[in-house]
Amino acid sequence: MKPLISFLSLLLLVSATIAQNVPSPESYLGYKVGTRYTRHHKIVEYFNAVAKARPDMVKLEQYGFTNEGRELMLAFVGTPENMQKLEAIRLNNLRLAGVSRDKAAPVLEGAPAIVWLSYNVHGNEPSSSEAALLMIHALTDPSNTKTKEWLKNTIVVVDPCINPDGRDRYVNWFNSMVGDKLNAHPMSREHAEPWPGGRSNHYNFDLNRDWAWQTQVETQQRLKKYNAWLPQVHVDFHEQGYNSPYYFAPAAQPYHEVITSWQRDFQELIGRNNASYFDKNGWLFFTKESFDLLYPAYGDSYPIYNGAIGMTYEQGGHSRGGLGVVTADGDTLTLVDRATHHFTTGLSTVETSSKNHQKLMSEFKKYFDDGRSGKIGEYKTYVLTAADQHKLNAVISLLEKNGIEWGTVSNKNFKGYNYFTGKEEAFADEGFNIAVSAHQPKAVMAKVLLEPKTIVNDSNTYDITTWSLPYAYGVKGYAVKEKLDLGNDWKQPVIQSVSSSYGLLIPYTSFNSAKLLAELLKNNVKVRFAEKPFKYRNKNYDRGTLIVLKTGNGTVNWNALTNAACMKFGVQADVVETGFMDQGADFGSSDIKNISEAPKVALLTGDQASSLGAGEVWHYFERMLEYPVTLINASDVGRINLKDFNVIIAPDGFIRSLGEKASADRLKDFVRGGGKIIALEGSVSAMASEWGLKTKTDKDEEKGDYIDVKKYGERERSFLPNAIPGAIFRVDLDNTHPLGFGYPDFYYTLKQDGTLYEFMKGGWNVGVLKKEGYVTGVAGTKVKNKLKDGMLFGVQNMGSGSVVYLTENPLFRNFWENGKLLMANAVFLVGQ
Ligand SMILES: [Zn+2]
Repeated sequence: MKPLISFLSLLLLVSATIAQNVPSPESYLGYKVGTRYTRHHKIVEYFNAVAKARPDMVKLEQYGFTNEGRELMLAFVGTPENMQKLEAIRLNNLRLAGVSRDKAAPVLEGAPAIVWLSYNVHGNEPSSSEAALLMIHALTDPSNTKTKEWLKNTIVVVDPCINPDGRDRYVNWFNSMVGDKLNAHPMSREHAEPWPGGRSNHYNFDLNRDWAWQTQVETQQRLKKYNAWLPQVHVDFHEQGYNSPYYFAPAAQPYHEVITSWQRDFQELIGRNNASYFDKNGWLFFTKESFDLLYPAYGDSYPIYNGAIGMTYEQGGHSRGGLGVVTADGDTLTLVDRATHHFTTGLSTVETSSKNHQKLMSEFKKYFDDGRSGKIGEYKTYVLTAADQHKLNAVISLLEKNGIEWGTVSNKNFKGYNYFTGKEEAFADEGFNIAVSAHQPKAVMAKVLLEPKTIVNDSNTYDITTWSLPYAYGVKGYAVKEKLDLGNDWKQPVIQSVSSSYGLLIPYTSFNSAKLLAELLKNNVKVRFAEKPFKYRNKNYDRGTLIVLKTGNGTVNWNALTNAACMKFGVQADVVETGFMDQGADFGSSDIKNISEAPKVALLTGDQASSLGAGEVWHYFERMLEYPVTLINASDVGRINLKDFNVIIAPDGFIRSLGEKASADRLKDFVRGGGKIIALEGSVSAMASEWGLKTKTDKDEEKGDYIDVKKYGERERSFLPNAIPGAIFRVDLDNTHPLGFGYPDFYYTLKQDGTLYEFMKGGWNVGVLKKEGYVTGVAGTKVKNKLKDGMLFGVQNMGSGSVVYLTENPLFRNFWENGKLLMANAVFLVGQ
C-alpha cells in the first residue's frame, strides 16, 4: 500500500502546484467582464474552472435545478485550512444557533463568520452575476493578499445566480437585440425588454418575495442549504433604475421591532466601509431610504429574522441599462461600471465581516440564545386548531421549511388571544391542534410569522404589512402569554380503503378535497356534489360533499380511481349504498349537481396581463392544483374558438377585450352558451362598465378650500391616508353558494387597494365587506373608512353560464393558503 500512498501524495502535490493558476474571467471567457453578457451556463463553467484550479479553496455544491433545467450552485470559499474542516465549521455554526440535532457543545473561539453573497435574484438586474465572476476570482487569486487575509476569519458562500431562468431570459433577449456595438440611447430597443421580462422565474414569480413561503423550486432548494448553514451576513444583490446612485445598508424604516440594535449597528458599520471605497472613486450612493425591513420573504429581512445581518445592495442599471446607457446627467453608465460597483461592495462586506468576525459570532450566538430563553415577544406559545388536519398540515409544512420547532398541546386548559374574535378567550379545540413555542432558536421567525399584529413604526412601506398565519391559512389561532408544555402526539387519521357497488361520499373541507376532485376529473371520473347538507346513516354531510356514483361512470374503474385519489390526498371516503338519504336531497334531486365534464381551462396571458398575476394562476394550476390549463395570449381572444374551453380566467392586469364592446359581446355569448369567466382584480375593473359593475365612489372625500394646500417637505407622506400596502380584512362569506363551499361563513382577505364594488343587483354577492371588516395591517385612515358595505367576491349568472368576480387576489404569491380553495370552487363548482 505504501508506494501507492506516496504516489497519491505526489500527485496531490503536483496538482496543488498547478492549482495556483486560477484563470481570470477575462482569460477564461475571452472578454473583459461587463463588455458582454455572460450566459448562465458560462458562469457555471467558469466557477467549475476556478474550483478545478483551487480545489483546496473552493468547494462547489449543486443544490438543484430550475424549472427550465438550469443548474443551481453554491461555491464555498475559504483558506485551505478552513476548507479541510468545512463540515465541522458548518456543524459548529448550527450548534452556536442551537439548531443542531447533536448535543455537542459549540466552540465560539476562532469560529469563522459565514458570509453569504446571493447574486441576480431578479434576472433582469444582471450586473451582479457578472460581479460574481470577479468575486470568485478575487477570493481565489493567489496574488490577492487582502482576500487571503480576510478569508482566515470567514467562509464566503457565493451563489452566482439565484434565478438562472430569469437571467437567461433577459440575456438571450438582449443578445438578440443589440447591434454590432451597444447603443446607449435609452430609447433604443435594446433597452426596452418585452413582457414578461427577466425579473421573475419561469412561473413569473418574484423570488425576492418568496423566502419565507418557499412556493418556488429555486427557493425551496436554496433555503434547505441556507438553513443548513445559517450565515452571519447575507447580501442580496439587485439593480434599480439606471439614473439612481448605488444603494447599500443601513436600510430604511420601517424596521420590524424584533430587529436588534446590534443588527442595526452592524449594517451601519458595513455601510460606512462601503462608503469609503465609493468616496475614493467619486461614486455616488444613498442609504437609509426606500428599502425597508418588514415583510419576511425578502433576501434581507429573512436573513435578519434568522440571526444574520441581511442586506440589499442596489446598483443603477436594471434591464434598461443594457451594455451602456446615457443617464440623466449625461454620463454613459456601462455594464463594466455596474459590475465593478457590485464587486466593490461585495469585497468590502467580506472585509468588514472578517475584521469584526468575533463580534459577529458572539452576537449571532446571543441572538439564538435569546430565542431559546424566551426573550422574544409578549406571546410565549402560539396554538392553532382546525377540524381538518390538512389545514394544519399546510402550516406544519411551512414551519418545517423554516426550521421552526412545533408540537401539540396536551393540557388544553388555557386562555389566549383568539385571532378570529380579537378577544382573550378560553381555548376550544376544533379536533386537531399544533403549537409553536416562543422558547426556541427560531423564536424570531416564529413571532414574525405568527404574531396577530405586526407593529409598524413607519407606515411608508413598499410591501404588505401583515401575513399572520391564522388569517392566511384560515385556521383558528390563539396567541398565549404563558409558556405551555408541548407534547409530541400529532396523529393523523389513517385513511381506509373502501369499496362500494353503488357510490362513495367524499367530504369537501380543505384544498386537499379540491385537489382530489381535480385528480378524479383528470381521470374521467364523473363527480357530483351536494348543494345542500344531507344526512346518511346518522352522519351529517355538508354542502360541497363530493359524490361518486356507479351511475354515469360505467366506462371507468371509479371505485379504484376514487380510492387511489383519497389515499393520495389523505381524505376518507364513505360508502353509500342507496340514493335515498335519511335527511336532505336524494341523489336524483336537482340539489345534487353533476360536474358533467372536466372543465377545459384557458388562462389569458401576454402583455395585457400582469405577469405576476398570470404567473400565480399558472403556477397554481400546474404545481398546486395539478390540473391542465392552456395559456392564451390575451390579444388572441378575438381569434380563438372559444368553444374549445369552458372556463376562461382573466388574471390581474388590463385586458382590453374584456372592456371593449365588440369583444365583450363575444365573451358574453360564450358565457350565455354555458361558459364561465373568472376575473381577478384588475380584470374586474376592466370589465366593470361593459358588464354592469360599479365601484363605490369616495363619498367621504375631504372638502374645503385648503385641501390642495400641502407641505412640500412632507410630500412623500401625503399619500399615506389613502395608502393600503396590504392589510387583512374579514369578508362575510355566503357559504351556501358553491363559491363558498368548504369555508365557514367568513374569510380573511389581503386587501391591497381601496377598490370596493357596489353590491350586485341580480347577482350573488358571495363575499362582502360589512361595517367593521378591518383586522390588521397598515391601512390609511381615509381608505379604511371607505372599505365598507361592498362586494369583493361575486357571481353573475348569464344564460347558462356565469361570471365569477374575484376583486381581491385569493392566490397572493401562492402563499395565501386559504384562498386556494376559493379558486378551485370557482373553476369546478360554480355554475354547475
Ligand atoms: Zn431587484
